[in-house]
Amino acid sequence: MIDMKGVYKTYPNGVTALNGLDVAINQGEFVYIVGPSGAGKSTFTKLIYREEKPTKGTVNVVDTDLATIKERMVPKLRRQIGVVYQDFRLLPTLTVYENVAFALEVIEEDPKNIRRRVMDVLDQVRLKNKARFLPDELSGGEQQRVSIARAIVNHPKILIADEPTGNLDPDTSWEIMHILEEINELGTTVLMATHSQEIVNTIRKRVIAIEDGMVVRDESRGEYGYEH
Ligand code: ADP
Ligand code: ADP
Repeated sequence: MIDMKGVYKTYPNGVTALNGLDVAINQGEFVYIVGPSGAGKSTFTKLIYREEKPTKGTVNVVDTDLATIKERMVPKLRRQIGVVYQDFRLLPTLTVYENVAFALEVIEEDPKNIRRRVMDVLDQVRLKNKARFLPDELSGGEQQRVSIARAIVNHPKILIADEPTGNLDPDTSWEIMHILEEINELGTTVLMATHSQEIVNTIRKRVIAIEDGMVVRDESRGEYGYEH
């Protein structure tokens, strides 16, 4: 599903964020990405949805070679990848329903199907009863559930969650984790960058640790392994 070999990324300012990274992730896996700030975790995830290009090395995602992908094929790649951010990034003037429907409208989904698909996915994140609410009328956990609904409404093969619980209290964080686990159990590959020792050490999954732009540890059912 995701295969990177000998990947280097040097930004135009000369900073080398990835320094010979090798990673292979299979369909259906749930993987935590851990490591200190500045280690290269975000750069790694950005290469997957082609927000950044590697300076050197092979990046293969859902059977597509991202070194040679044509620009016009990038939207097709991105449709297979959902992304969830720490700060939700909902559109503040749109309702919950509209935020999620928008993801289908931009890919020109048949309007006949939009209502059913949006309500199904809101049901999946248990927010059907808040469809008419605006984001600022929701709690942080509810906003994150909307952003997850938006990310999965296209049925992507991969869901990338970049510190999805970073702005949430512990109870709400566990709710979000259970939703991510359910999505994974339905077949979506989940990659979650996190600084939560408690979550990683409790809901045990594969752990990939990145330091100085390299994989320094890769364990199935691993531990967080840092002191915070
Ligand atoms: P992490 O997500 O682990 O904190 P990042 O991938 O964000 O790590 O950053 C790795 C390194 O690359 C850091 O030194 C960071 O400052 C640098 N970096 C990240 N994005 C950019 C960018 N767009 N331009 C220049 N340097 C960047
Ligand atoms: P009900 O019909 O009982 O209201 P639904 O599950 O059909 O239940 O809808 C739940 C919520 O979603 C409703 O509050 C409705 O206003 C909202 N909703 C449904 N379709 C749309 C739409 N096309 N645009 C905006 N809001 C919608």
